[in-house]
Amino acid sequence: MQTDLYRHKGMRRTLVKQLRDKGIRDERVLAAIETVPRHFFFEKAFLEQAYQDKAFPIGEGQTISQPYTVAFQTELLKLKSTDKVLEIGTGSGYQCSVLLQITPHVYTIEYNKPLYDKAVKFFKTYGLFPQTFHGDGSEGLPQYAPFDKIIVTAGAPGVPKSLIRQLNIGGILVIPVGGESSQKMLRITRTSETEFTKEEFDTFKFVPLLGKSGWDAETM
Ligand code: SAM
Repeated sequence: MQTDLYRHKGMRRTLVKQLRDKGIRDERVLAAIETVPRHFFFEKAFLEQAYQDKAFPIGEGQTISQPYTVAFQTELLKLKSTDKVLEIGTGSGYQCSVLLQITPHVYTIEYNKPLYDKAVKFFKTYGLFPQTFHGDGSEGLPQYAPFDKIIVTAGAPGVPKSLIRQLNIGGILVIPVGGESSQKMLRITRTSETEFTKEEFDTFKFVPLLGKSGWDAETM
């Protein structure tokens, strides 16, 4: 278990200032980033990297997302403290820990078993209580739907219809969609039983969403 010292808090304040300068405005999101010790997700030797605004390898060919990306996606969700949220791609557990600062109702699913096991251990060690699942989350978690918000933290080839169906009316799906080298961030809002709006934001670069509604794991 790592400790969170005064100097770490100072590094987070600097990071939050950078995120503000880059355009993040939601105070709850900025407060959540300032609260979660990102260095807990890194080996001790990589402390400096933990508070740079950069993605970083977490093993298994996967990455902990860049803080700006985490903040941007979380801001797009327009999160409320009562929201029931599904995160697809637990990875290190960092994004999930940020979501948990705003709402306690977080479900998170990870495809990669070693990463899943590590994240579960992390949550237990640091007293966090998301609902954790191992498996292919590309089609959501139908047995626990509906959700107010769904966030996908891996790049998808398209918007899986099953995810939209798992949104409440008024619910929001934030998902990066595109090719393997870059994706557009999309926000899909379910406005009625049958209607949706789609907004397109900046370009990002995510590791691929695998599984049934993702990229074919066999050909990656
Ligand atoms: N949210 C993570 C964090 O805060 O560290 C970063 C996620 S990383 C960019 C993307 C994650 O999505 C990887 O851990 C990968 O194994 C996972 N993933 C890819 N396809 C998936 C699927 N079909 N279902 C669940 N997780 C998936």
